[in-house]
Amino acid sequence: MELIDTYGRRINYLRLSVTDRCNMRCCYCMPAQGVAKLQHDDMLSYEELFRVASACVAQGIKKIRVTGGEPLVRRGLVSFLERLSGVDGLKELVLTTNGMLLPELALPLKRAGVARLNISLDSLNHERFARITRSGDLARVLAGIEAAEKAGFGPLKINMVVMRGVNDDEILDFAALSINKPYTVRFIEYMPTLQDQGWSAQSMPGSEILSRIADRYPLLPMIGTEMAGPARNFKIEGGAGAIGIITPVSGHFCESCNRIRVTAAGMVRGCLFSSQGIDLKPLLRGGDHAALEQTVRSIVTQKPGRHQLAEQGVEEQVNMSRIGG
Ligand code: SAM
Ligand code: SF4
Repeated sequence: MELIDTYGRRINYLRLSVTDRCNMRCCYCMPAQGVAKLQHDDMLSYEELFRVASACVAQGIKKIRVTGGEPLVRRGLVSFLERLSGVDGLKELVLTTNGMLLPELALPLKRAGVARLNISLDSLNHERFARITRSGDLARVLAGIEAAEKAGFGPLKINMVVMRGVNDDEILDFAALSINKPYTVRFIEYMPTLQDQGWSAQSMPGSEILSRIADRYPLLPMIGTEMAGPARNFKIEGGAGAIGIITPVSGHFCESCNRIRVTAAGMVRGCLFSSQGIDLKPLLRGGDHAALEQTVRSIVTQKPGRHQLAEQGVEEQVNMSRIGG
């Protein structure tokens, strides 16, 4: 079974948010006071998440990224992942985390069948990191990265959201992380999900990030695979790892977008920036499996051709921690 949308894109990637909760309050993702939490009943149970994921795989999804909120704060996650990784037809189970709980959980995640980890990290300076994340501890994240390597995860992806005047002076330090270690360091354009004033001055285009790196290091382009996602990848000559540039704002990668999303509240969405979604909870709670699969197919049919982020910003605040960035 395959999921092909009206623009001919093959949809084989599900981003599954397992919680809206987080142990950080990153300035680009959440307001300082956090966001209203989902009520327990509004959140999908693990059983429901499993049924959604299985229905998506039955329809043609091959790769699932578990995200949040911070996925590692949800109790019982490791057993859920163990079950999920066994779904017939699923080729890759991967996870995005802020890394704070990796010191304890890296090995259990590996044993549960998680193939790869993306770790978000926006500064290598302890104070700045604490300021950006409002409650994060860089020492724990670095220990988490070490624990992930020890557990046998590799190559790790390190995701940095670049903000002009906040952390852009660290672009070269981050790029250099890929020289000695086999990390893929990915630079992400800052998106105006909070509808913040002056966002465009802070959002640095991928082309500028790339030229800053290329001015310092000789870069070789790399060719992606079908499920590799939206990054344009390069290698610093002689480096062990790679560099990725992700341009959701300036170069929206919509024409090659292969993903759908399911939020922690059970809304399935075709695009991060579309306000249209379908609530799967009634189908899940009514036990209508055929309708569940049909809804997955219809969200693919309704998937928009492209978003209008660069031209129009966002229509309403995008709650990244609930939708799953
Ligand atoms: N808590 C986990 C983490 O931070 O990795 C997973 C969820 S988080 C919403 C997923 C990704 O979305 C992170 O890499 C984060 O940096 C990114 N993100 C959140 N808000 C963003 C924004 N406004 N612009 C660009 N990336 C953003
Ligand atoms: Fe939490 Fe991730 Fe959002 Fe930061 S980016 S507040 S770690 S969900």
